[in-house]
Amino acid sequence: MSRPTDPAPPRPTPVSTGPCVRCRRATTRYGAGASPLCPVCQQARAERLARP
Ligand SMILES: [Zn+2]
Repeated sequence: MSRPTDPAPPRPTPVSTGPCVRCRRATTRYGAGASPLCPVCQQARAERLARP
């Protein structure tokens, strides 16, 4: 038994880069619907939401 080999090599997830909507720092967004915030702002927002 032999499986057909996939001619297409595994491609990485589509990456889009752009400025963070909060601090304008260049950030990387992965896939569709990703947060336009940079990791720093994402964490800051998470901590803010976690606070009562
Ligand atoms: Zn930011």
